[in-house]
Amino acid sequence: MNDQNLMEKIVSLAKRRGFIFPGSEIYGGLAGTYDYGPLGVVLKENIERLWLSMFRDDRDDMYGVDAAILMNPKIWEASGHVAGFSDPVVECEKCKKRFRADHLADVEKCPECEGALGSVRQFNMMFKTHAGATEDTSAIVYLRPETAGGIFTNFKNVVDSIHPKLPFGIAQIGKAFRNEIAPRDFIFRLRELSQMEVEYFVSPKEWKQAFEEWRKLMHLFAEAIGLPQSTVHELEVPAQDRAHYSKRTIDFEFDYPFGRKELWGLAYRTDFDLSAHANASNNDLSYLDEETKEKFVPHVIEPSLGVDRTMLAILTSAYREDAMGDDTRAYLALAPKIAPVKAMVSPLLKNKPELVAKAREVRAELKKAHSAIAWDDNGNIGKRYRRQDEIGTPFCITIDFDTLGETPELKGTVTLRHRDTGKQERLTVAEVAGRIRSAIE
Ligand code: ATP
Repeated sequence: MNDQNLMEKIVSLAKRRGFIFPGSEIYGGLAGTYDYGPLGVVLKENIERLWLSMFRDDRDDMYGVDAAILMNPKIWEASGHVAGFSDPVVECEKCKKRFRADHLADVEKCPECEGALGSVRQFNMMFKTHAGATEDTSAIVYLRPETAGGIFTNFKNVVDSIHPKLPFGIAQIGKAFRNEIAPRDFIFRLRELSQMEVEYFVSPKEWKQAFEEWRKLMHLFAEAIGLPQSTVHELEVPAQDRAHYSKRTIDFEFDYPFGRKELWGLAYRTDFDLSAHANASNNDLSYLDEETKEKFVPHVIEPSLGVDRTMLAILTSAYREDAMGDDTRAYLALAPKIAPVKAMVSPLLKNKPELVAKAREVRAELKKAHSAIAWDDNGNIGKRYRRQDEIGTPFCITIDFDTLGETPELKGTVTLRHRDTGKQERLTVAEVAGRIRSAIE
């Protein structure tokens, strides 16, 4: 399968099976926006939940916030976004299409129509809107271009209300908006995206150690969501390419079907943000160490993970095809922890009330431990298995006449089918529950 082919298959499966739909589709779409459907929303929640447990809840030094998307515009002046959150843009003089100049490195003609390209100018990517009834400039607000802003502005609130000891961090998941010049590659480059960000506050002496800890955790997270180590690469960003506030940045890149591209970022932001907000807001954003009586502005390590790029990396690495009988079977080898459906229960025949009743009983039993246990009695059993394979359900459980005791020694047992191998085994319901539990854990 070539890479373009793989991308087309993922986009098609995502739509067909209710993971991801083009945004505003019935009106012809809106570039750079996608909607998550019934299965996509659960997959997204599972990714976010796992991130929350690994990056926030399993630790004693992490706290959460959920800040407003609309913030006082002075925040984005202080952070440097109003002046500098821009990408270089060039316009084709003939077809008027716009491109990111840095994506066209050595290209001199328009890649679409061969027309001449105009000169490069900077384009600010923040979306502007107006708060309040009057459309005058005093009421301009921006949709946040990153979630980090709402963390820095709540630093003082968290310190004053929770009194955490340094080092500690604040985690947030939420939407961010970037008016990308050329949104593309499905959910890779969006104009409306979700981020999972941590700002971890440290004394300047501790930054290197903290940087290493978060770096390791990001690799563990990649492993937990099922990305093979061989597909995730660290890129040490050279000084001239780093954001102005960063003294060290590592991009975590992933081998997408369209090339090796940034999946997540890890940056040492020094005390740039807190100092800038302290100056601009006239607030003291320093930290007093009660033991040493030392007072200083904390430095910051920032692991920043895009939810949508994570989802695309997961779909890319989970997509498989193999020959089954005469035709090809497509399936998603999702890690059971994040699979939207953990298991599907089904009666072998749907017109046999005794099979249906038993299957319902088995499903209710399994649902006690985990709610994402689906029911399917449509079409023949082979078709049901294929449908579950395509959405990445790790287990299918079938109730047949042996379950009811047609073969006395098999009474009470069910068939457990494994997604990746198609292998089947005969187990009791308690054993099946154990298998599901241990796969998820
Ligand atoms: P790029 O260089 O690809 O534009 P960036 O370096 O501007 O990305 P950051 O500002 O570091 O990205 O944002 C942190 C994370 O947010 C990225 O690592 C990525 O996972 C995600 N992200 C950034 N921009 C987008 C986007 N337009 N669409 C989807 N996810 C994004």
